[in-house]
Amino acid sequence: MRCRFCSKTIDTTLIDLGHTAVSNAFLNANDLNKAETTYPLKVLVCDNCFLVQVDEFQKNNEIFTEDYVYFSSVSEGWLKHSKAYVEKVTNRFALNKNSLVTEIASNDGYLLQYFKEKNIPCLGIEPTNSTAQLSIAKGIENIIEFFGEDLAIRLKKEGKQSDLIIGNNVLAHVPELNNFVRGLKILLKPSGVMTFEFPHLIKLIEKKEFDTIYHEHFSYFSFYFICNLFKFHGFEVFDVEQLETHGGSLRVYVKHKENEQQPITENVTILLNSELQKGINKINFYTGFQEKAIDIKNKFLLYILSEKQKGKQIIAFGAAAKGNTFLNYCGLKNDTIKCVVDDTPYKQNKFLPQSHIPVVSREYFNNHKPDIIIILPWNFKNEIINKLSFTKEWGCQLVTYIPELEIN
Ligand SMILES: [Zn+2]
Repeated sequence: MRCRFCSKTIDTTLIDLGHTAVSNAFLNANDLNKAETTYPLKVLVCDNCFLVQVDEFQKNNEIFTEDYVYFSSVSEGWLKHSKAYVEKVTNRFALNKNSLVTEIASNDGYLLQYFKEKNIPCLGIEPTNSTAQLSIAKGIENIIEFFGEDLAIRLKKEGKQSDLIIGNNVLAHVPELNNFVRGLKILLKPSGVMTFEFPHLIKLIEKKEFDTIYHEHFSYFSFYFICNLFKFHGFEVFDVEQLETHGGSLRVYVKHKENEQQPITENVTILLNSELQKGINKINFYTGFQEKAIDIKNKFLLYILSEKQKGKQIIAFGAAAKGNTFLNYCGLKNDTIKCVVDDTPYKQNKFLPQSHIPVVSREYFNNHKPDIIIILPWNFKNEIINKLSFTKEWGCQLVTYIPELEIN
């Protein structure tokens, strides 16, 4: 395939996770007897620009269906994170009632609601109708479309250039990266700033977070690559923060190259140098990842299957996309893991793709006392262990498996 950024032919594999269904394609009971589409989930790395990217060019409308079930507001931790962000940028960039804040992939308005509370005008861009409707219900203006150059031209014509553009966990989902960033160049006011949050590739590799790879993601970013991407399109990264979210994320601050109001902080140089020291621009950095994934899979299977043989009741908690990657890579089905408890009403009474494990509500615990609960969204491990502390009454084991098997 050709690199999605620099167009060079690439053939170095970071990891091959086999054929898997789209992670968020939850099934209804009547889907279980139908054929399921799976796609090869193989991640490559370009040895020219070092963009880590998936092999398969999946069409947007196949992935973000009307039934797309990721509602940000369900996680309390994520809401807290979002509120703190709004406080911070409102002060730092002196946002007020004359500013315009635009969020791309604004989901259910989990973040923009805090700008609205402060009477700062905001606009959400969210292609998934079901989630956008929840945002509209909160009184937030929404455009139900994918973002790109065409939409940016239209918004500019309508006088909707932005003082702050936010993209949280969206860059990885963008198939046409260059088109997207060209759109940003058009939409951002000359004095405006942008922030983007995305899982940090360095953390993904160092902490062996291979389950954060799924079809909905087209790319995985190092800070090195992100700086080069924005530079190529006439922007400059002027600050960066390292966050704990999603197993280790970056929040980068970006401005037009011509804008001299925002000085470049030393955080940028420090992180860039640290990545270069680790060999981020050398192909050797990217090899050996597959073996790490196999090791995690084997150790987890040895544990879970031996417990199953002893007659233990095993369930999972949190029907997150990363759980599907992991369960499918391990080849586990509903004969090993009985069900997955999830607090999102939209996911309940559905089935995980491929493994066909039923998703149930917390009411499950009224009549069942499982011996083992596997926590699939390990990025919310502490929050979930806290939520499930009542299961300690009967000595239930709470298990995570990344970066290594851990039994709490
Ligand atoms: Zn490339």
